[in-house]
Parts: sequence; structure tokens; C-alpha cells
Amino acid sequence: MSAQIGVTGLAVMGANLARNLARNGYTVALHNRSVEKTDALLEKHGDEGDFIRTESLQELVDSLEKPRRVLIMVKAGAPVDSVIEQLEPLLEPGDIVIDAGNSHYEDTRRRESALAEKNLHFVGVGVSGGEEGALLGPSIMPGGSRESYDSLGPMLEKISAKYNGEPCCTWVGTDGAGHFVKMVHNGIEYADMQVIGEAYDVLRTAAGIEPAEQAKIFNDWNNGTLSSFLIEITAEVLAHTDARTGKPFVDVVVDSAGQKGTGRWTVVSALELGSPTSGIAESVFARGLSSQRDQRELAQGILEGHEGSVELPEGFVEDVRLALYASKLVSYAQGIDMLTAAATEYGWDLKLDEIASLWRAGCIIRAELLDDIMKAYAADEKPANLLLAPAFAEAIAGAVPAWRRVVATAVQLGIPVPVFSSSLAYYDGLRRKRLPAALTQGLRDLFGAHTYNRVDAEGTFHTLWGEDRSEVEAVDTH
Ligand code: NAP
Repeated sequence: MSAQIGVTGLAVMGANLARNLARNGYTVALHNRSVEKTDALLEKHGDEGDFIRTESLQELVDSLEKPRRVLIMVKAGAPVDSVIEQLEPLLEPGDIVIDAGNSHYEDTRRRESALAEKNLHFVGVGVSGGEEGALLGPSIMPGGSRESYDSLGPMLEKISAKYNGEPCCTWVGTDGAGHFVKMVHNGIEYADMQVIGEAYDVLRTAAGIEPAEQAKIFNDWNNGTLSSFLIEITAEVLAHTDARTGKPFVDVVVDSAGQKGTGRWTVVSALELGSPTSGIAESVFARGLSSQRDQRELAQGILEGHEGSVELPEGFVEDVRLALYASKLVSYAQGIDMLTAAATEYGWDLKLDEIASLWRAGCIIRAELLDDIMKAYAADEKPANLLLAPAFAEAIAGAVPAWRRVVATAVQLGIPVPVFSSSLAYYDGLRRKRLPAALTQGLRDLFGAHTYNRVDAEGTFHTLWGEDRSEVEAVDTH
């Protein structure tokens, strides 16, 4: 018996992907650096499908049908390079090496290019859905060559999550495109969670609504345009009471949020691409600030809030829902805009409708909204920005007055709403006819002769600020 795919790295993610493959009828060869994990998997779940036990990478490779497919699911970073280095001499041209871990897309690009020189396919695959998703059906974002997808795609599609029967897996683009798209997914996830947190804080602090009551509100919201996995689990967490103290669970948890780094990667990459991804950036910074506990504690005794009092407008809860919805839309718009910028930079033919379709099920940001986003990008006329798609332009226009009221209320009461407010600033920046960037250009020209363009003439100009302030045509030095 030969296996259709081999999995090396059988910690929780690798084990669950291997089981998912076996449960879907594939024969899976198993390998782990230390054989204990292989044996533990076989002992507990060996009856779930056809597995081949191997103890070395050579044995793993020998057990595979050709072209071979080897899925690496080891710790991200140097271990992936180490495994590739050991595998490479054992493989033959046309074989496919798959990395489904959380690798940085630049590493994936480097590995793909190095293995392509040896006529080996290297496929970086973004996988979202956590442990449970890996077992029951994750959202899968594969990159690598189109040719490798022809061989690998059907297997990945079979084990992926399904939305109305459609697999949440499709070829995203060459080399590191899969890991890039997964990274942006995670960035959007950060923003999604932050706007939920801001809505909770405003409802609690401004409107005095306790967590258990808020759980009902979030449950209600989950039936409308906000319907999503994250809203659903927000209701669950807010409804939970701590068994030890009888307090709301959310009140006994330390308020500093951790991060594993994909949000930070997204922001670094956005800066490099010149992509205004302020919602995601503010979410990462908000986690950073929450973690500066010493400074925060000191600040409580020093920094005044000067909070005013505000009479809450009627329908404030609905206002908060609309502010959450609008801010969330902006985060998606910014994430998608970043995908567009990356497509140009790296020569990827990213299909935005297909990417949105991958996120409709299996992954953490799964939401009804993504079906509408998919439709917006499947239209003949693609929107230049998600917010400009007719359905979303209309939806956000309906939310703007409420959004402004919520941001104004939060600011007056000293409640930090970095994503609500920065998203609103992005929205206003996008729609305003004139921006103060004109003044910035003037300043840059004065102190650094950086030149400027005129609204009424072609060409690049410089004012002789230190002389008679006449204008000369200049060589563009932007
Ligand atoms: P992990 O804890 O990240 O890594 C442990 C595995 O890596 C073990 O099998 C270990 O082998 C192996 N390993 C470590 N160093 C190695 C080396 N130098 N050579 C060979 N093998 C080595 O495992 P995980 O939590 O299952 O995660 C695997 C990947 O999935 C990571 O990239 C992680 O970031 C990603 N991940 C994704 C999600 C998601 O939702 N998509 C969730 C969690 C993790 P030994 O048993 O011999 O030590």
C-alpha cells in the first residue's frame, strides 16, 4: 500500500490535518521527529482511516505514490527550513512539498524559489480554523505553482470547510500568496476582535449594560448583518460566569491581550506596501498598550480623564451596532486593499471574490458579510475599494450618523475607541474632496525642495522659497 500524502510534524495541528485527510478516504503516511507522537496518534485514532507508520523521512518518502506530496506541519521558522533541507535530497523532480504552518510569506517565497531550482514544487498553504478546524474542515489558502494545485487541490478541497456545499479552498496565487492571504486574514481577525471589544466597552461604560445583558444583545446582533463566528462567541464569553467568584468571567480576566505575531506581520507588510491599514494597525497597537500594565497602572494615578457627561442619544445600542458594523467594513476594505497592493508588488493574480469566498466558513473571521463581499468582487465592475461597491456604499452611508455619535460619545467619556475612530477617519479621508496633504506637500517643498504637482497644470513644480517665491518647473524627486 502506498500513501497519497505524507504528514511530518504530528503535534496538534499536523495530527488533526492527518486525521482529517484519513477520514476523507486518503491513505496518509505519518512521521514525526520523535516517534512517540506518531505512535500516540495511531493508538488513539488509528482506526479513523488508513495510516502508514514511518520512523524516518526516508521511510516517509518511500511510502508515497508519485508525484509525492509531503505536508510539513512543524514549528514555524527554522524547523521548517531544517525539515526541507533533510527532505530535498530524498525527493524527485515534480514532487510537492507543502508547508501548512504559520510561515511568513517572505520565507515561503524564498523556499519556493530555492526548491523550484531543484524542480520541486513548494506550496505554502494558509490554514485557518485552529485545532478544531484542522480536524473538521479549515479554510485553506494554498499558494505555489498552479501545476502543483492540479495534483494537491482536490485533496485540500475535500478536507476543507464547506459553505453551502462549496469548498473553502482554492488556489490563491503563486509562491507566497497563500501565506500572505492567511496573514491578512489574521490581521482582519485582530481588527474584528478589537471592534467587538470597543462596542462592549462603550455599551458597558457609557450605557452601563452588564455583560450578561450584553450577551443577549450580541446574540441578537448575530441574527443580522453582523452574523459571524466572533459575534457568536462574544455572546458566549459575556454570558459566562466565573465559578470561583460568581462574577462575570470577563471581569476576572487580566486585561492585557496577547499576540503571536501575525497581526504585527500584517502591519509591517502594510507599511512596506504603503497600504493605509489603520484599523488593523490600531488593533495591534491596542493589544500592545493593553500589555503595558506597569505604565497603565502608574498612569491611573497621574493622568486625568476630564471626562464630560453625555446624555446618551435614543437608540444608543443600535448606534453602537452600526458603529461596529461600519468599522468592521472599513477593516475588511483595508485588508482587501492591502491584498490588491501586494498583488501588484509580487505579481499575484489574486481573485478577490475567491479569497472572500474562502473566508465564508472554517476560519475565525467567517461571517455572512463575506458572502456579500464575494458578490461585490464577482460583479463585472470590480469596486476600486470595498466601500465603493454600491451595496456597501449604501450600507455604510446609513451607518455614518450613528458611527459619529458613538465616536463622539466615547471621546467625551474618555473611552478609547481606536478602531471605531480611526476607521471613521479613514472613511472621511477617503471621501473628502480635499485633504491637508496639500499643505504637507507645501511644507516638504519649503524645507526639502521635494516639489509638488498643481491642481491646474501638468508637471512638477518647486517654489523658490528662499528667493523671490517664484515657481519653477522641477524634476520630480518624490
Ligand atoms: P508546534 O508546537 O508549532 O510544533 C511542534 C511540532 O514541530 C512537533 O511535531 C515537533 O516535533 C516539530 N518540530 C519542532 N522543531 C522541529 C525540528 N527542528 N525538526 C523537526 N520537527 C520539529 O505544532 P502545532 O501547534 O501543531 O503547529 C504547527 C504549525 O501550525 C505551526 O506553524 C503553527 O504556527 C501552526 N498553527 C496554526 C494554527 C491555525 O489555526 N492555523 C493553530 C495553531 C498552530 P517533536 O514532537 O519531535 O518535538
